[in-house]
Amino acid sequence: AYVLTERGLLRSEQVAYPMEERGLQFGDGVYEVVRLYSGTYIWLHEHLDRLYRSAAAIRLAVPFSHEELAERLEQLRRMNDVREDAILYLQVTRGSFPRSHAFPAENRPNLYAYIQPMARKTEEMARGVRAILTKDVRWEYCCIKSLNLLPNVLAKQEAVERGAFEAILHRDGVVTEGSSSNIFLVKHKTVYTHPATERILNGIVRTKVKEFCAELGIPFIEKAFSVSSLAEADELFLTSTTSAITPIVQVEETLIGNGEPGDVTKALQAAYQKATKPLPT
Ligand code: PMP
Repeated sequence: AYVLTERGLLRSEQVAYPMEERGLQFGDGVYEVVRLYSGTYIWLHEHLDRLYRSAAAIRLAVPFSHEELAERLEQLRRMNDVREDAILYLQVTRGSFPRSHAFPAENRPNLYAYIQPMARKTEEMARGVRAILTKDVRWEYCCIKSLNLLPNVLAKQEAVERGAFEAILHRDGVVTEGSSSNIFLVKHKTVYTHPATERILNGIVRTKVKEFCAELGIPFIEKAFSVSSLAEADELFLTSTTSAITPIVQVEETLIGNGEPGDVTKALQAAYQKATKPLPT
């Protein structure tokens, strides 16, 4: 397989980074995950815009310009002959330098990106999933898609060990987001979600759900909701690049609505399907 790096396209066997890589030692970098359906990137430019925003927020220069990176990612896809459902993983770090917390004197960031097959999660999307609740113990800049994912990893592991699909994070009594997703509550046919503040990652699918709601005439309110309101929700769903729009039908031991995906969620799933259907080639 081919991998895109700061040095250009390389065969994966040729890609190795030293022990003293700042992504490894400090999590000093940012990343993106982009969906591909049938070998077509979905919302690539939105993801790249966010990548440059995340990088700027930690004062990191991305090795290529937006246009050049998009071009090279398309080349990566072509060279690997990707035609199936897949994901692109891309990260940029502050580079490889003798270990020292402060920034290196030289600007020499590392970048790598690779594509991995990943099927649609059809079962979860059709039936809905169970989520657990856990405390949001992250830092104040969750809007940056940084490599520091330890709290997210621990939250997801707790979900897995308790037989759930996702961990819903809460801070001061309100739901912020999922360990790797945004969370939405539906009440009286109105969609609520946490505003895009520093407390959450503004998901690309989240921004699309906002657009779908506008198109479908569904009221969309960016207002945090409390943990206690979950039990009274008509519907709940999560969004992410890998899980698209997935209904949440149970939180801890509480069934949401009648325990089945609701109408608003299904209408948004249909809008998502329509928006992401790759053009025939
Ligand atoms: N919040 C967090 C913490 C995430 O890790 C993700 C997944 N990257 C999301 C939200 C959803 O973002 P997106 O829709 O861009 O995948």
